[in-house]
Amino acid sequence: MVASNLTIDLAAIRSNWRGIDSYSPANCETAAVVKANAYGLGMEKTLRTLKCAGAKSFFVALAEEGSEARKFLPGNEEIFVLSGHMEGDSGLLSRNRLTPVLNSAAQAIRHLEQLPGHPFGVQLDTGMNRLGMGMNEFADVRERVLIAKPVLAMSHLACADEPEHPMNSRQLSEFKAATFDLGLRRSLAATGGVLLGPEYHFDLCRPGIGLFGGLPYAAAEPVVHLELPVIQVRELRSGESVGYGAAWTADAPAKIATASGGYADGILRAMGRRGRVFAKDIACKIVGRVSMDLLTIDVSDLEEVPSTLQLLGDHQGVDEIAEAAGTIGYEILTGIGIRCNRIYRGEIGN
Ligand SMILES: *Cc1c(COP(=O)(O)O)cnc(C)c1O
Repeated sequence: MVASNLTIDLAAIRSNWRGIDSYSPANCETAAVVKANAYGLGMEKTLRTLKCAGAKSFFVALAEEGSEARKFLPGNEEIFVLSGHMEGDSGLLSRNRLTPVLNSAAQAIRHLEQLPGHPFGVQLDTGMNRLGMGMNEFADVRERVLIAKPVLAMSHLACADEPEHPMNSRQLSEFKAATFDLGLRRSLAATGGVLLGPEYHFDLCRPGIGLFGGLPYAAAEPVVHLELPVIQVRELRSGESVGYGAAWTADAPAKIATASGGYADGILRAMGRRGRVFAKDIACKIVGRVSMDLLTIDVSDLEEVPSTLQLLGDHQGVDEIAEAAGTIGYEILTGIGIRCNRIYRGEIGN
């Protein structure tokens, strides 16, 4: 067996949800954003764990993801669909009791015509210009929408991971001005917004990445551990090269381990430049090019090469390896491939 093992710590997910929940007062609900297969960690165990931790509302990106989520949340948990009500979604939305967050006047009209009486939220754009109705667009459908009683009015912050960024207070003012008189439950904050403070919390917070151990929730417990099996170890003489393009050359005698893992597992080519893996607490450099299924590591400093090397874990989290590859933790987590064995550690409940 040479597939790499992705261990997912359910107790850490639970503790991160509760940690984030403790930032907001009891009358503010903490939901859980689980789009993209729960940030790559798998829906079933992740959703059950978050539900046991206390989450009652969940957000996914697509109606299809919502129908997958509903299998593991068969009760009255609310599942919001952030892409809203797309053409052809009515059946999925109604069969799975999903709550679309309507993003445009066209979606609002479609929803009210095709699924009258079916719950929905609305997203207002307060400056990010990605999803949501602008104020003029909302004004056009405001009356029809409000009569149908949306369950949530929300918006999304563009720069919440930079607390000093002027966009934050600008979007906050826009959001307040647009929603203060609607009489609806309101939501503005994702993980970054929760950390900006109570003004940003409103009635419901929508953390995602922080639950799974990523920045900007620096206090997060690490959730994922990725172990790569070592397939073989070879001794190189000074001047010998490693891998495709002979991209790395030993300038002294070296010991190189070939480990199982590559692009197909979400290990990026860009990690070949500054990436490291760990043998217990000893860091070993990735050398040469990462290939599709393999990577090569300088293990010259190890007395004994272990059977697996750790790419993600307590010594190096998703954000550190992301930094080495010039990306962010979100991309690392959601990119971990389906070929990795997902092993869940800890109990779902408690
Ligand atoms: C992805 C997303 C979230 C969660 O964001 P994190 O930064 O992962 O906490 C919340 N709201 C919306 C609209 C999103 O798209």
